[in-house]
Amino acid sequence: MGLMRSFLLAASQNHWLRDHASHYKFVRRSVSRFMPGETLDDALIAAQTLRGKKIGTVFTRLGENIGDRAEAQEVADHYLEVLERIGQKGLQTEISVKLTQLGLDLSRDLCFDHLKAIIARAPKDSTVWIDMEASNYVDVTLDLYRRSLGEFPNVGVCLQAYLHRTKDDIAKLLPLRPSIRLVKGAYMEPPEIAFPRKADVDANYFELGRALLRARKEKACMRVAFATHDVAMIRRLSEQASKEGFSKANFEVQMLYGIQRGEQERLAAEGCTSIVLVAYGTFWYPWFVRRLAERPANLWFIARNVFAL
Ligand SMILES: Cc1cc2nc3c(=O)[nH]c(=O)nc-3n(C[C@H](O)[C@H](O)[C@H](O)COP(=O)(O)OP(=O)(O)OC[C@H]3O[C@@H](n4cnc5c(N)ncnc54)[C@H](O)[C@@H]3O)c2cc1C
Repeated sequence: MGLMRSFLLAASQNHWLRDHASHYKFVRRSVSRFMPGETLDDALIAAQTLRGKKIGTVFTRLGENIGDRAEAQEVADHYLEVLERIGQKGLQTEISVKLTQLGLDLSRDLCFDHLKAIIARAPKDSTVWIDMEASNYVDVTLDLYRRSLGEFPNVGVCLQAYLHRTKDDIAKLLPLRPSIRLVKGAYMEPPEIAFPRKADVDANYFELGRALLRARKEKACMRVAFATHDVAMIRRLSEQASKEGFSKANFEVQMLYGIQRGEQERLAAEGCTSIVLVAYGTFWYPWFVRRLAERPANLWFIARNVFAL
């Protein structure tokens, strides 16, 4: 894929940049395009505003690759508090977690215990989503997903269309009646593992999306969410869904806060399930740089912020 994408994805892993970027006002101003703020209260206010537009929300606190047990515990406790605050506000907001944020790098059992505690506390009619991280985490993520699904039906996992393996992963998950959020994939992966050409990723996304709609129709999938800002792809999949007889409400699209707002509102107004993932927290550097890598034109937006008042 593009040189700029590779450069930005490498920069997203750079510790010096991570530690220094947040000191610059223009970077913070740029980040605010994709985040309503750094606190849970900021996310809750955004969710209430979006609800007024019939747009649902999923919250995620930014953070990954936690290397300390106390920190993993703090993250798990935070998500329990989030679930409580969501309930108090009468919101239908769901949450999405990264396993490395719950201590996966330290211990698989520790991470699984935190994950189970969070799912157990979530309302039964809401899904707890598990993000998919870089390819070295796919096996363990799917393993922990299968084990949680054995105990709780209300848990979903993200799958990435850029990986060659995803078609097989879907086939293996279907007997468990999974909930799947399909994305294109946000990390730097070698060609043996992921399609290097964007056109091939897009083609695979459509094929997997079609298969998931079929599985949902046959009740082999509990829930299918298309997490993409690709308007042409959404149109093709929505046409496919109508052909298969899905109601508008059963066609679900998830997007990131601040991206394609017009399309989020259009889908909601049409009666589709339109959901926005709201990220908050102070550990935004790698997440933000992955957003730049998805659309290097965003760099112009940062450049404008250098000169903004
Ligand atoms: C709800 C949600 C959850 C996600 N969870 C994960 C996850 O767990 N694991 C993972 O690997 N990835 C995740 N992603 C990211 C995903 O993998 C892609 O990197 C990202 O969505 C960009 O791809 P796209 O499908 O929007 O299509 P693209 O073809 O990349 O983009 C289509 C169009 O959308 C717009 N667009 C896309 N990205 C941006 C941007 N950053 N800024 C401005 N405009 C943009 C542009 O107009 C672009 O032309 C998630 C995405 C969403 C929406």
